[in-house]
Amino acid sequence: MAKLQAIRGMHDILMQDTPYWQYVEDIIKNILSQYGYQEIRIPIVEKTELFARSIGDETDIVSKEMYSFDDRNKTNITLRPEGTAGCVRAGIEHGLFHNQTQRLWYIGPMFRHERPQKGRQRQFHQIGVEAFGLKGPDIDAELIILCARIWKALKINNVRLEINSLGTSKSRSVYRKKLIDYFSANKDQLDDDSLVRLEQNPLRILDSKNPDMQSLINAAPTMSDHLDSESADHFTELKEILDTIGIDYDVNARLVRGLDYYGKTVFEWITEDLGAQGTICAGGRNDTLVEQHGAPPTPAVGFAIGLERLLELGDFDTVPGNHLPQIYMILEGEKTIEHGLKLAEKLRDQIKDIRIMTHCGGGSLKNQFKKADKSGAQFALVLGEDELEQETVSIKFLRSDKPQTTIPWIELTNFLSNNLSI
Ligand code: ATP
Ligand code: MG
Repeated sequence: MAKLQAIRGMHDILMQDTPYWQYVEDIIKNILSQYGYQEIRIPIVEKTELFARSIGDETDIVSKEMYSFDDRNKTNITLRPEGTAGCVRAGIEHGLFHNQTQRLWYIGPMFRHERPQKGRQRQFHQIGVEAFGLKGPDIDAELIILCARIWKALKINNVRLEINSLGTSKSRSVYRKKLIDYFSANKDQLDDDSLVRLEQNPLRILDSKNPDMQSLINAAPTMSDHLDSESADHFTELKEILDTIGIDYDVNARLVRGLDYYGKTVFEWITEDLGAQGTICAGGRNDTLVEQHGAPPTPAVGFAIGLERLLELGDFDTVPGNHLPQIYMILEGEKTIEHGLKLAEKLRDQIKDIRIMTHCGGGSLKNQFKKADKSGAQFALVLGEDELEQETVSIKFLRSDKPQTTIPWIELTNFLSNNLSI
């Protein structure tokens, strides 16, 4: 029989790694609540149409990367490649955008059928943030400031911010024409992908990673020369807020995003420490997306952090191993099992957040001590038949030379409260 394996590009996150994930997620979630953002949980699959309409038919995501299939009722559904579309759908469906603002975040797996490589998986994880109903640059700035706080809390230093403005759709269409003229005049230098983009979405040629085209791209007209006053003012004010707060940025006039829904502010946080896949966070404004789905116009801005890349970047030597049990309970002899499990329950009731692993599966004392040691616990509590008779328990210190001691059950809670370290 062929060996069963996970699907290419989709990875298990094993027990030695999950504490780091939890640590990072907890830090980010805490910061999000410091800013008043609330969690929304949206389905992992949606109708394909939702993504096609939001992200754009000609984007890499929709044209080549989606996991789409017919379900048993022949409805075409897609494993979500990103979270914004689902948030918009949920917000409209539940009336969350009527005369109110929403500051939301989500976390979870995303799916894109890309070529797996370092920093690029087919199932990966994002924490995303979306603010709805706010149109000014203040909220754009808040999101960027919030990101900076996350990096600082995670002690991630080597990351820089690039920002750009893609203008309003009106100003973008003027620019679009200029770009078409420019690239059409240099058609012989375009690769196949870019020839398609020239027809469908010429801005995305600027996003090409083909090194042979970089000089052509560098000489292309820039959006910044074509901003209308509304988007120019928005961008200027954003930069002023960032300057005041003291957040460094580079304006990258060629920064466009791989999704069609962006306009005005776009930004990326980039590191040089991860090689080619150096963007750990990307986002921007999507003021037309809600309207595009048939609801009243609702300005919106958001970003998503790629958690795999973030974890790869972090230097987390100091993450406390706080998931190890503090106590391993050794149960010697059949009769002790039920009393031992009961005693453990009592301790869990009495000492807040205590972590006790009870030995299951019997076996010799020696074997049980080995397991106790391996568990990482600070103490072994030994309940043998003698102890049971005398209503005591023996305590062996697993991480120090202190001699073993025996104490009555009634003193145990007190003893542990005084001796356990977290
Ligand atoms: P890229 O240009 O790297 O393909 P993108 O524009 O497709 O990025 P977004 O859709 O903006 O990326 O996603 C936001 C973040 O999610 C990225 O900056 C990255 O950190 C992460 N991400 C995107 N695709 C993947 C993937 N296939 N594997 C791992 N992380 C990813
Ligand atoms: Mg991509």
